[in-house]
Amino acid sequence: MVIVGGGITGCAIAREITRYTPDVVVLEKESDVACGASKANNAEVHSGIGEDAGTLKQKLNVRGNYLYDEFVRGLGVDFKRQGLIIVVTPRSVPEEAARQLSDEELRELLERKIPEGIVAYGEKAGIKGLRVLSRSEVLQREPNVTPEAVAGVFDPNYGLVCPYKLTIALAESAVINGARVFTNTEVTGIRVEDGRVRGVVTGRGEISTGLVVNAAGVFADEVAEMAGAGGFRIHPRKGATLLFDREVTSEYVRSSVALFRMPGMKKEHSKGGGAMPTIEGNLQLGPTAVEVEDKYDTSISAEEIEEIFERFHYLLPEFPREAVISAFSGVRAPTLEEDFVIEASDRVHGFINVAGIQSPGLASAPAIVEMVMGFLHEMGIPRNPRPDFDPVRPAVPRFAELSDDERDRLIREDPRWGHIVCRCEYVSEAEVVRAIHSLIPARDLDAVKRRTRVGMGRCQGGFCTHRVAAILARELGIPVTEVTKSGEGSAVFMGETKDILARGRGEADRS
Ligand SMILES: Cc1cc2nc3c(=O)[nH]c(=O)nc-3n(C[C@H](O)[C@H](O)[C@H](O)COP(=O)(O)OP(=O)(O)OC[C@H]3O[C@@H](n4cnc5c(N)ncnc54)[C@H](O)[C@@H]3O)c2cc1C
Repeated sequence: MVIVGGGITGCAIAREITRYTPDVVVLEKESDVACGASKANNAEVHSGIGEDAGTLKQKLNVRGNYLYDEFVRGLGVDFKRQGLIIVVTPRSVPEEAARQLSDEELRELLERKIPEGIVAYGEKAGIKGLRVLSRSEVLQREPNVTPEAVAGVFDPNYGLVCPYKLTIALAESAVINGARVFTNTEVTGIRVEDGRVRGVVTGRGEISTGLVVNAAGVFADEVAEMAGAGGFRIHPRKGATLLFDREVTSEYVRSSVALFRMPGMKKEHSKGGGAMPTIEGNLQLGPTAVEVEDKYDTSISAEEIEEIFERFHYLLPEFPREAVISAFSGVRAPTLEEDFVIEASDRVHGFINVAGIQSPGLASAPAIVEMVMGFLHEMGIPRNPRPDFDPVRPAVPRFAELSDDERDRLIREDPRWGHIVCRCEYVSEAEVVRAIHSLIPARDLDAVKRRTRVGMGRCQGGFCTHRVAAILARELGIPVTEVTKSGEGSAVFMGETKDILARGRGEADRS
């Protein structure tokens, strides 16, 4: 069977299928897996508290969060439940509504009714362990939060994971168990005969199959149309996030922190964002929510950056703006109904849509997998797990995290462990080489970066980019001028300096 799309959704489904059969192929149009929303999100394993009651999104988010520890087990990827603090302040209530209340009534609303309401709402959705916090508890846990905090709610279920490392790990685990993952392979058509899927057409040829899972992210509506199994439209919504130097902000918030706003106060269709640590310790602020025309639009304007600073200035008044090291944006894949579309097509037998997977798609992934497997078992995927399924995808050692003894041992085995390529993140040449020759091979600078963190520190690649490029060229047996940032059309070098100068001189002589 064929899965279209190598994001978290497609790779998680592929990995689960290999528990039952090795007969699965993932087709990804980009040069690596995790090149869509799965590389550019806030890495939060939400609990479901921010979702609308009764939606499929909320149901799968609550279930997905519950399953997460098991989901990542054996994959060699870190997962940590840092929790979320929802902060209630006078700005949680619209000014007009607050004016209608006496001081006493407003205090009662902010200190008691709102936090208790949040807890009751979450409990109704099946979220466990929510707890009301007093003002002093909020400030004790998060001393950098606004002194205007009146109360809060602690949600212990919120977790952090590195979304692209998890996607890569899922893809590698699938490969360990017999799946095949083809990158640089765009699906351009689905062959359907007599109402049944017969094959998948790609830029590199056709694959015969009776089963297709459409996990194509923002392009899922177009892939569904190829099969005649559409009926929904994805309207891309961009989200930009600021990323901070972990040396400065690693302790700035301990949990994720968000400001509560009464319904109707938030930007439509956004959970409102917040201040969130990453699993590596960098703080993030964001994201924005901007409707865009172009599904590839991951631009970030100066206005968006300023908007993020302004939005969170109230929540974290003393925030060290100068510690920002990077900004990134990703494109969400909402449908017009704003809910996940996970269905076996009733028009095309053998075609399953897993679409509209906007936030909280990362958090919901384990439950999305469960739901899709339900359809696939009905369609003939064996129900009994294979005895030879291997759940372990060994963790890749990170030089920065090893003890001195472990470093010594590795350097004795292979001196490239002692050659530090990235000084900010302390990445060794051996890690870069391993990434290039891994099960889902890193063939460009961004792919190496996602696997090793090379270039993700304060200097953002200023020191290491050319070193990594040289290693890529050597290991792939190509001239360094052919090394790309992220696959075709993203060349980073124009040529050898002397050649360019000589060419320039030649042109000058001719003129
Ligand atoms: C700014 C932002 C913040 C977010 N924060 C969170 C968060 O904190 N927590 C959370 O749970 N969720 C979050 N999300 C949502 C989450 O990132 C997505 O739900 C999830 O990554 C979707 O994964 P996916 O695999 O469905 O899609 P994608 O990761 O987009 O993967 C789809 C893949 O299909 C490929 N593809 C498309 N068309 C074709 C074709 N024709 N042929 C072959 N391949 C094709 C694409 O190249 C892409 O790699 C956030 C999203 C954004 C944008």
